[in-house]
Amino acid sequence: MKKYIPNNVKEVLKPIVRFVNTTLYAGDKYICPICDYGSSDLAYVGFDIPILKTKQIIGAGLRKAGCFNCKSIDRERLVFTYLKNEENIFEHNTNKILHFAPEENISNIFIRHRFEHYICGDLFTEGYHYPSYVQNMNVLDIPFEDNYFDLVICNHILEHVNEDIDAMKEICRVLKPNGKAILQVPIAKNTYQTYEDFTITSSQNREHFFGQFDHVRIYGQDYIERIKSAGLKVNRINISYKYPKFGLNKEEDLFIAIK
Ligand SMILES: [Zn+2]
Repeated sequence: MKKYIPNNVKEVLKPIVRFVNTTLYAGDKYICPICDYGSSDLAYVGFDIPILKTKQIIGAGLRKAGCFNCKSIDRERLVFTYLKNEENIFEHNTNKILHFAPEENISNIFIRHRFEHYICGDLFTEGYHYPSYVQNMNVLDIPFEDNYFDLVICNHILEHVNEDIDAMKEICRVLKPNGKAILQVPIAKNTYQTYEDFTITSSQNREHFFGQFDHVRIYGQDYIERIKSAGLKVNRINISYKYPKFGLNKEEDLFIAIK
């Protein structure tokens, strides 16, 4: 039914739907760390795709994880919480930061804090609209010198990239020594070995085997070894238990790579 509603009508309906939802679900069970909206519940997000269940993919699939107000999902709130509460990033607006495929809610906060070097990049794809502050950038060829950034944010990017280890090497190159990269990916809870097969190229088959039409693999628990193979150290940490009201996924670890 949804697809029969024209886009311009959807745009008009959006604020109305948001108003109704935020009124209906106002409460104090959850507080969104990005927009501060207090709610009694979270919105359904994601898709019910069989492989995501079979492989117990953390941070994917149909689940209650959306903010009714700003539309942020669990993995965005996790990265934001880490940056704000664990790294105190917004107290250091001289840091040089590179943000891939930036989540608009989070970008707006960086922009509001007037970071001197906050660069947003995304590989432009036809048919998509990008905000003016985002530049066309390939993670395999980052147009910056070596040892430039203090922090790279790469939230659910690498599962789209065939040469993911080369991408991590490129991220490593532009990081300063001791610089950090947040390298989040969907990861199988019950499987050690990452599964990839580059002969699987159709959208339909990729969804069937990898859980999304444009993913090229399913990461297993060996993900940490892949990061290390790119020359980075890794801190795998879980902070969700510290912030029970933020609607984070208790099973979702952060992968903080350090140069
Ligand atoms: Zn929110």
